[in-house]
Amino acid sequence: MQTADFLIVGGGIAGVSAAARLTAHGRTVLLEAESGFGYHSSGRSATYYHFGIGKSVVRGMTAFSRAHFETPSANGTALSRPSAALFIAPPEMLAGLDLLEAEMRPYSDRLERLDADAARDIVPVLRCGGDGIVAAVLDRAARRLDSEMLQQDYRAAIKQAGGQSIPGARVVAIAREGTNWVVTTATGDRFSAPILVNAAGAWCDEIARLAGVEPLGLQPLRRTIIAFDAPPDQQIGDWPFTKTAVDDFYMLPESGRLLACPVDEVPSEPTDAQPEEYDIALAAAKVEHYTSLAVRRLSHSWAGLRTFTHDRVPVAGFAPDTEGFFWLAGQGGYGLQTAPAMAAATESLITGGNWPAGLTDWGVDRADLAVERLQIAGN
Ligand SMILES: Cc1cc2nc3c(=O)[nH]c(=O)nc-3n(C[C@H](O)[C@H](O)[C@H](O)COP(=O)(O)OP(=O)(O)OC[C@H]3O[C@@H](n4cnc5c(N)ncnc54)[C@H](O)[C@@H]3O)c2cc1C
Repeated sequence: MQTADFLIVGGGIAGVSAAARLTAHGRTVLLEAESGFGYHSSGRSATYYHFGIGKSVVRGMTAFSRAHFETPSANGTALSRPSAALFIAPPEMLAGLDLLEAEMRPYSDRLERLDADAARDIVPVLRCGGDGIVAAVLDRAARRLDSEMLQQDYRAAIKQAGGQSIPGARVVAIAREGTNWVVTTATGDRFSAPILVNAAGAWCDEIARLAGVEPLGLQPLRRTIIAFDAPPDQQIGDWPFTKTAVDDFYMLPESGRLLACPVDEVPSEPTDAQPEEYDIALAAAKVEHYTSLAVRRLSHSWAGLRTFTHDRVPVAGFAPDTEGFFWLAGQGGYGLQTAPAMAAATESLITGGNWPAGLTDWGVDRADLAVERLQIAGN
């Protein structure tokens, strides 16, 4: 049996970012089921940092996290780069665009309202006028994250501080023995610690059940991305992340190709999500609806799970009636861009340190992330 102060279950962005913080306070062991890290949601995202998503708590955590993304990794590599986000609206989304602009304004001082021509100057293939795009908001405060580099950097920090990240360690049993959690993996290895951090993404409710803790009713929702060749006459490299003002479609450039998403949210079990033909076809149809592009050949496609709480705000907090069981769950569609904030909140809540002043400054209180709010809401 290996002993630790903190056991983290799950080696996605949530687990590695929290573990990197906790290693300063005690021996930290992170257990990841897969043979590699970031295999599930954290390796399948669109890797954007922007304010066009989530409630104010999510936007506050996104704003707090900015400093981390702007600081280079320990080996000097950039963790993100500036890359604008363009929110587009056909006539029926104009009210939605107004609302989105008002919601984003407290978090970004680099918003610009554009007419259709100005939007088309930035993304020349947008279908504008008539029932096409009539207005847009450009946010120059958005960034493109380097998800792989972020996760590598966190794992390097864990190692540097004497912590351990163990792949191929699928947790299959969890028991409370005295004041410790004892965790057994599929290979029969056993680990023990007084604090267990449940950062298993779509599997968080399953981990809770193993531990005899009341699940939160988390809902994994599948989302699909297609990749296709850009027309040779278009210089797509500088195109922004382009998303409809109301959730329907987004598109972004990636290594000379375009990625597109139909903003699907299909309820799923926790699983190794795969794209469905219907959602792939829907993505291609939406590209052709919002732009003058034709999707002739897909280079590839993938799907991942975005896992939500009932109120779509993530959870960072101890289970109310079970000592030492910490929830780090429900990161939904913003788990990368909020990871530094969630990790800072986790460190403060687990070690009893001060609540990060930066989170308070951005209007994020511990009660916003607490488990109790979900139970009070009758969930
Ligand atoms: C298509 C798509 C686009 C997205 N775009 C963005 C974006 O642009 N910006 C953004 O911020 N977010 C985005 N997201 C959301 C983001 O990817 C997630 O919020 C984030 O990755 C969740 O991280 P996680 O660590 O909680 O989950 P995961 O990355 O899924 O990690 C959980 C880990 O727990 C492990 N695990 C499960 N059960 C066990 C067990 N029994 N024992 C040990 N380990 C276990 C799993 O193997 C997994 O590796 C997107 C998501 C998708 C799917």
